[in-house]
Amino acid sequence: MKYQSTRNGCPEQSFEQVLLEGLAPDGGLFVPVSLPSFEIEEIQSWADLSYQDLALKVITPFVGSDIPAPELRTIIYDSYDGFYHSDVAPLIMLDENEYVLELFHGPTLAFKDFALQVLGRLLDYVLKKNGQRVAILGATSGDTGSAAIEGCRHSDQVDIFILHPLNRVSEVQRRQMTTVHGENVFNLAVEGNFDDCQRLVKAAFNDQSFLPTQCRLAAVNSINWARIMMQMVYYFSSVLKLTRGKSKVSFSVPTGNFGDVYAGYLAKKMGLPIDQLVVATNSNDILHRFISKNDYSASKLKKTFSPSMDILVSSNFERYLFDLFDRDGDVLSDFMQRSLSGKLSVSERQWQTVRAMFSSASVTDDQTCRVISEIFKRHEMLLDPHTAIGLDAGRRCHNGSNSPMVTLATAHPVKFGEAVEAAGQKAPDLPGHLGNLLEREERYQTLPNDLYAVQDFVVQNLRLCSK
Ligand SMILES: *Cc1c(COP(=O)(O)O)cnc(C)c1O
Repeated sequence: MKYQSTRNGCPEQSFEQVLLEGLAPDGGLFVPVSLPSFEIEEIQSWADLSYQDLALKVITPFVGSDIPAPELRTIIYDSYDGFYHSDVAPLIMLDENEYVLELFHGPTLAFKDFALQVLGRLLDYVLKKNGQRVAILGATSGDTGSAAIEGCRHSDQVDIFILHPLNRVSEVQRRQMTTVHGENVFNLAVEGNFDDCQRLVKAAFNDQSFLPTQCRLAAVNSINWARIMMQMVYYFSSVLKLTRGKSKVSFSVPTGNFGDVYAGYLAKKMGLPIDQLVVATNSNDILHRFISKNDYSASKLKKTFSPSMDILVSSNFERYLFDLFDRDGDVLSDFMQRSLSGKLSVSERQWQTVRAMFSSASVTDDQTCRVISEIFKRHEMLLDPHTAIGLDAGRRCHNGSNSPMVTLATAHPVKFGEAVEAAGQKAPDLPGHLGNLLEREERYQTLPNDLYAVQDFVVQNLRLCSK
């Protein structure tokens, strides 16, 4: 499988190159040159596979011959062995046609583990094979950071630097990052918001001349293609569990950077019987305004109970727009340029294409709390605020068909105690493996929202490349 940039400004790349590079050199994102498509009979024949074997079926066409099958198999099995539920991604029924897909049984209690456990191992494998080392630089709105650190901490091939917005991640989220004390792990609290962190990371990638010559950066943020690839798998596993692929299933996806729901879109294009794809946002609702009103314009960032979705501009949306613009990189580049300044819309025909693929709703903090409280009263199940938004959006957007609506439960409620308490519920205890998190010693550095400060910190602390 070859990959191209959404801006069409660089040559095609292999899976291995895409894995290491993250962002394309022309500023675009990598997408497969063409998607594999599966016959429905083939998908149905996977109904009894383990999660791991299903993952191998789905991702092998994307990896191609870059990683030999036995090694890929070991990587996938090792990655999901560390999950605390034998089902990996258990599907829980709430009501007739209403389900939640629990994606928080990995080591850091959010769905990010599904991809980052694998990505850390893929990177380690490829870097070892090539005798290379890299510095990973990433920004987190809360959950990616700990999942990336957890996925990479044991690799001798990487140093990992994670930027989080100071005081804008929950205490549990922060501690899950800052209490990991590997000598290759560096946490930076940036005086700014998540978009500032993301901008700093992008800028550092765009001009890497601040690094020693033999050193380069690698990306693990949600634009990394391998993450999208791994997130397709649980759409397949859900459909197979619910209908064995014999009828359609709808999904409601709490959305920030548009990585998770984009994976659902790809799964659908590859032949998985998916009915609706609901884009669920909090009050940071650019995607909801675009889907419902053809208004693509960033507003001011609002701080909500669902911080992992407090994002102004969803980076992975560019991948979907690339398809929407008939894979014309020039049209896309122009759109992305203009999106920096003011209100944008697409043609009526394009907008109808969007609406045929996605439904959307935006959910306030008050409503989020109401849903948490309602579900707890009815089912004694505690939802995290992101999941509650997904559930509510799924209900509001349901098209009345018979397809079951599956809400992606993207995080464990213990990560978001503030919202759980605002909903009048007691925050749950930390699961066993994180029992003493609140007593562990924290280590992080606070930096101004300034590119030079970040570059300087990275250069001062690099362990690997300077040797
Ligand atoms: C990252 C995250 C999201 C948003 O996912 P995207 O792929 O960025 O849209 C939603 N909920 C939680 C808990 C997350 O950590």
